[in-house]
Amino acid sequence: MQRNASTLYPILLVHGLFGFDSIGKFDLFHGIRQALRNAGAQVFIPFLSATHSNEMRGQQLLEQIDRVLAGTGARKVNLIGHSQGALAARYAGAVAPDKVASVTSVSGPNHGSELADCLRKALKPGELPEYIAVAASTLFVEFLGYLSGRQQIPHNAIAALNALTTEGVALFNEQYPQGLPSTWGGQGAQIVNEVHYYSWSGTLQGPIWKEGLNALDPLHTFCRGFSQFFDREAGQNDGMVGRFSSHLGTVLRSDYPMDHMDSINQTAGLVRSGIDPVDLYLEHAERLIKQGL
Ligand code: CA
Repeated sequence: MQRNASTLYPILLVHGLFGFDSIGKFDLFHGIRQALRNAGAQVFIPFLSATHSNEMRGQQLLEQIDRVLAGTGARKVNLIGHSQGALAARYAGAVAPDKVASVTSVSGPNHGSELADCLRKALKPGELPEYIAVAASTLFVEFLGYLSGRQQIPHNAIAALNALTTEGVALFNEQYPQGLPSTWGGQGAQIVNEVHYYSWSGTLQGPIWKEGLNALDPLHTFCRGFSQFFDREAGQNDGMVGRFSSHLGTVLRSDYPMDHMDSINQTAGLVRSGIDPVDLYLEHAERLIKQGL
């Protein structure tokens, strides 16, 4: 289908994942920037460094929003944040609502990540049975190694977990509650301080052999492994974030058949057949246009 993504305000795709902006040789938002541009959107990808706090990343994002506004002459921007990027986008929307037309969370840990909780415990000796602690931390370090293409994982990547635990995000939410649902699993306000809030995310569904080509994606295998460490949202998560934890503003859908990395079309377009993660962004741009954004 021919999509029109020519939003009034530029779109910023805000990445999470501890500061990596690519996976191997692929853009983190694989094929998404180009698809949006081809459909008429102005798209920018701010770079946020790895740091321990969502506030610091949010502050970096604000500086880059100012640059985009100055460069384009636009009055506001539309922010679409994946994973931890959603928290930086929420920070910017809360602190500078006059510069932010919309905040959209894609697979965002808006109430924290149970995976981060588990890994945090795994880093403290004695907090978890040893075999679980070893399994969780080994899998996570291999995951980061795959993403970054490096053998050595920066320590701050693991320290950044503090910003993603249920406890860490709860503290963040006390300061920046805009768009959060008031009940677990519910929807949040669509508009706060004239900023529109949206979210979407997916869950792991069915056996791996039903995934088609996605079964060949190492990142999918990691997500399946991580999924075992969830408790509250066991069976209702994308491998890194629980379904209800991702809810923010208008919840477009939180059970797309996508793992945490499928929602940015990784690895390199290997996703389950029947779902097109790139089209979700194009469809959303059309939604923003209809709202005059
Ligand atoms: Ca995938």
